[in-house]
Amino acid sequence: MLSTQTAKAPRGFGFRLKVFGIPVTVEITFVLMAVLLGSNRRADAAPLIEWIGVVLVSVLFHELGHALIDLLRGHAKFQQVIT
Ligand SMILES: [Zn+2]
Repeated sequence: MLSTQTAKAPRGFGFRLKVFGIPVTVEITFVLMAVLLGSNRRADAAPLIEWIGVVLVSVLFHELGHALIDLLRGHAKFQQVIT
């Protein structure tokens, strides 16, 4: 579900952003899985959106930990991919 890559950007659908200068790609499959896992919150949109936000931020911080380790190990080129 998650990976740290040092190669080129993924080719799947999704959106890209930078967090603390670190390029991050959030693939659409991540959002779809978050929606699926939060399916019991579908009755109202607000709890589902909250759920997706919590999952995204949680996973993002986890992946930023990988990025920090990459930086400390001297890997200059990396990107975080949340799939
Ligand atoms: Zn991890």
